[in-house]
Amino acid sequence: MDGGRAELKPKEVFKVRRSWFVVHSITLRLYDAHNHLQEERLRPHRAAVMATATEEGVAKMVVNGSCEEDWPEVAAVAREYPQVIPSFGYHPWYVRERTPDWQKNLLRHLDQVPSAIGEIGLDRWIRDPDPQQEEVFAWQLRLATERDRPVSIHCLRAWGRLFDLLQAGPRPRRGFLLHSYGGPQEMVGPLVKLGAYFSLPGYFAHERKRRQRETFRHVPPDRLLLETDAPDQPLPEERNLHPLIDPASGKSINHPANLSAVYHFAAELLGQPVDALASAVEENFQRLFGNLGARTVPVRSA
Ligand SMILES: [Zn+2]
Repeated sequence: MDGGRAELKPKEVFKVRRSWFVVHSITLRLYDAHNHLQEERLRPHRAAVMATATEEGVAKMVVNGSCEEDWPEVAAVAREYPQVIPSFGYHPWYVRERTPDWQKNLLRHLDQVPSAIGEIGLDRWIRDPDPQQEEVFAWQLRLATERDRPVSIHCLRAWGRLFDLLQAGPRPRRGFLLHSYGGPQEMVGPLVKLGAYFSLPGYFAHERKRRQRETFRHVPPDRLLLETDAPDQPLPEERNLHPLIDPASGKSINHPANLSAVYHFAAELLGQPVDALASAVEENFQRLFGNLGARTVPVRSA
């Protein structure tokens, strides 16, 4: 303290911000377009995490499986929590682990419960990708098209190829989600024409993510979604409203209730009042993820 000027210590600033966020998010219904609630790192915290997420106004979250191993856990969290929209798919990082029955397994999960397809995608950033990565992606995209299911797509360093595949089609009629879109700004327009939605993660609030953040100013308001990607993609420290530790590694992880902080980050970035943004995001979310179709029972041959 100097010259008699009252200054807030960092901790007090944090407290003030936190209560402001909580008060303002109470009336809003928030939609997380992409997270991984089923993950091992969140499991010990799950009940508390879901209670806090509900307090923060999280109405729905799309919980993405990434391989056969975690699909049953995605189905389990969907049975336990009505906020969960389950999503089943093979993530490009885990394609190598697939069993010979992976397609049958995927169909079985999709038939059990109204669900989305994801996380699927293309990734040329990982070392030594599976040579069948593209084929596995294309098969799942075709499946999403045939069943008109919402699909969540991951893409790293493969934007040109992804665009070609999407353009060649077939593509789901309802559109598709490019989660944590980090592709070039110039591709936003052409991707919109193919039916793309783009979800902004809180991670792009980090100073070094300026290019990715700026790209979102060019996303049409009717194609914008928001996501936490919890337990990954944490917000910068000063925006992290719900610090959480993975007990196994002692490392900090992202809390699904940080979704309200993502909404406030997006509202600041786009220069919009948070309630106007929230109602636009709600409409977009319902358009893409609503109406997942009735539970379908697989036809058995006699
Ligand atoms: Zn993800």
